[in-house]
Amino acid sequence: AVANIGVVGLAVMGSNLARNLASREGNTVAIFNRTYEKTQGVLDAHPEAGFIPAATYEEFAASLSKPRTAIIMVKAGAGTDAVIDELVKVFEPGDIIVDGGNAFFPDTIRREKAVRSTGINFVGAGISGGEEGALTGPSIMPGGSDESWVTLGPILRSIAAIAEGEPCVTHVGHDGAGHFVKMVHNGIEYADMQLIAEAYDLIRRGTGKSPAEIAEIFAEWNRGELESYLIEITAEVLRQVDASTGKPLVDVILDQAGAKGTGAWTVQTALSLGVPVSGIAEATFARSLSSHPEQRAVAGSLPGPAEEFVVADEAAFIEDVRLALYASKIVAYSQGFDEIRAGAAEYGWNIDLGAISKIWRGGCIIRAQFLNRIADAYAETPDLPVLMTAPYFAEAFTRAQAAWRRVVVAAAQAGIPSPAFSSSLSYYDGIRADRLPAALVQGQRDFFGAHTYKRIDKPGTFHTQWSGDRTEIEAEDTH
Ligand code: NDP
Repeated sequence: AVANIGVVGLAVMGSNLARNLASREGNTVAIFNRTYEKTQGVLDAHPEAGFIPAATYEEFAASLSKPRTAIIMVKAGAGTDAVIDELVKVFEPGDIIVDGGNAFFPDTIRREKAVRSTGINFVGAGISGGEEGALTGPSIMPGGSDESWVTLGPILRSIAAIAEGEPCVTHVGHDGAGHFVKMVHNGIEYADMQLIAEAYDLIRRGTGKSPAEIAEIFAEWNRGELESYLIEITAEVLRQVDASTGKPLVDVILDQAGAKGTGAWTVQTALSLGVPVSGIAEATFARSLSSHPEQRAVAGSLPGPAEEFVVADEAAFIEDVRLALYASKIVAYSQGFDEIRAGAAEYGWNIDLGAISKIWRGGCIIRAQFLNRIADAYAETPDLPVLMTAPYFAEAFTRAQAAWRRVVVAAAQAGIPSPAFSSSLSYYDGIRADRLPAALVQGQRDFFGAHTYKRIDKPGTFHTQWSGDRTEIEAEDTH
């Protein structure tokens, strides 16, 4: 037993994570893969790593020092369950099984409960940053027990990305908390990407600038408050020229966006929790809309605006779009953190929201300077009910809101879809409204279903006898 950590599953993510682990002082890494040829391949390709290979689960367990600690990086779903079943047979109470795959958090809650009954610790850990991150330093979001964190903490800290001197890993909360937070991270990523895409589309159609010219605008934005990995790579993608046609690559890529499901999970979960994550939802739906060519083909004949979209002052319009992007981005992140807050309350997790924003500053797709502002907001007011009301963000809205409105108006008039920009603005206006037409909805619900309502001027629950003499009576609260 010489290895302090093991990795099961040696496809791209697992082999890169194993190499990352092996490269850090103090780690000796045992490796196992269902198909042994892959283990041999990794061993041959990376003699410098000093891997301890295992051909069976028994050998794998024997090669690990206690408490045995293994990270599973296999195909999420049935693959994860199959590996857990095998590890549980050869591990002992106190040992630690970590699932680093993209599991849906209810599965993690279920697995943690089942594994815990054997005395073995089970940790669901969200790992972000793709294959490059796995190799050089991902952002890691582990759940699981406090006991497992004692052993796991130093190991994960050794391989995580470093942002401003701090490793991008924290013990998020118990059982499924890590995978929950990773899920919302991915949802926010969807929203951020869609917002950037809408900004590009508006500038392109409003000014007629080429993708290469717009790349320069994004590169410029990347030097200001929008500085982020996603803005940076957007400039790179827009600059790319297709070798076979000589056209901008973005013009030859089929405009149908794919998805692996984490955005949908985020939205489904938000619906169950009753949290409006409209930015993430619109971004997810925008991908769905794009991926129905048969519908788009027939809908293409529907009428659009009669007038051509002409922007009078290009520089002013571009600055408006930048501000609209920034304001919408604050809304998307605020909504995402709202979902984490609601999830923590629902599942009994003690999640430090400021710590979450900090571990996203490095290694992951949404890494950005902006996350420091979120950390500041929660440092000042840990139980902030609406993130975007923090003074720094309120000031940003003061600067941006007029521009944001102009952009949404321009998009609507020009017939350019801006689901994430406009839904974010509607959310903003909804949450800050003094009175909402929800009062009328309550009246309608009471009319057709006797669902009752509350009054602004006295306590109690009331019902108007709509089918009778329309007098009001006190009623049982039925919502
Ligand atoms: P894959 O998701 O392609 O999974 C392949 C690996 O799973 C192989 O090692 C395979 O073994 C193993 N496997 C599949 N079924 C079983 C089973 N029933 N029993 C044992 N082993 C099995 O690999 P990736 O490296 O792409 O991803 C690994 C995990 O990391 C996934 O959960 C993924 O969602 C997650 N992830 C991936 C990211 C990425 O950018 N790719 C980013 C973040 C997370 P064999 O060789 O024998 O077939």
